[in-house]
Amino acid sequence: MVDYHTHNVLCKHADGEIEAYILRAIDCGLKEIGCSDHSPMPNDFDAPHRMTVEQFSSVYKPTVLKLREKYKGKIAVKFALEGDFFPGTEEWVKNFNMQQPFDYVIGSVHYLGEWGFDNPIFVHKYEERDIDQTYELYYDHIKRSASAGGGHLFDILGHCDLVKKFGHRPTRNMEEVLREVFKVVKAADMAVEINTSGLRKPVKEIYPSEQILQIIHDYNIPLALGSDAHSPGDVGRDFNIARQLIEKYGGGKISVFTNRQRSEVRIT
Ligand SMILES: [Zn+2]
Ligand SMILES: [Zn+2]
Repeated sequence: MVDYHTHNVLCKHADGEIEAYILRAIDCGLKEIGCSDHSPMPNDFDAPHRMTVEQFSSVYKPTVLKLREKYKGKIAVKFALEGDFFPGTEEWVKNFNMQQPFDYVIGSVHYLGEWGFDNPIFVHKYEERDIDQTYELYYDHIKRSASAGGGHLFDILGHCDLVKKFGHRPTRNMEEVLREVFKVVKAADMAVEINTSGLRKPVKEIYPSEQILQIIHDYNIPLALGSDAHSPGDVGRDFNIARQLIEKYGGGKISVFTNRQRSEVRIT
């Protein structure tokens, strides 16, 4: 098993140094740990929840690369990021990502316009909008994140039904919308993340839902796996539940990445 989605103190809303996450992953018996903290962004976008470009260069990158050497033979440490899809920033993100020796980049949607819809502070805004339109707008962003940069901006689609985080559900079946989204994801040759953090949120459900996992299975889209740990104790959390879904919808295989090249491994 591997955990490809972890944060650390640099994003200002997670606890623990990078090394603490790696040590926890070794304790859990994981084969790989991906350091995938929130990406720096241009123009102070969402600055309170991420490192700066300066911190990326002076702290994040050298620390991850140093720890990769330190723990060689014990665990494979992957150098990664959780990137944001935000319309208008694609060129900046593409250039930034291409200049760095990442093993992979997760692509996530955390914003619909100015609305940070997964932030508990703004949860009341769900009530002020039409929930079906919110879902449609969200999936439109997911689709655009997959095709952004010619389909090469991101390698893994992160928590791809995050819009359900606080338990709001659409009033109609989104099957048709979802099928259109995952056709684009398939064409972009991305993996889709099983992210266990939803189980720790009000929705109490893994990302993505089994409805989406069935579509992913139908389209033969590869799976990836992450806990989205914001504290070291969350590394590998609820992977027994994820494992059952990987068996059922992914033939027991998950994606691993080196230098942004994907291969698949059988989980054990
Ligand atoms: Zn995220
Ligand atoms: Zn995350």
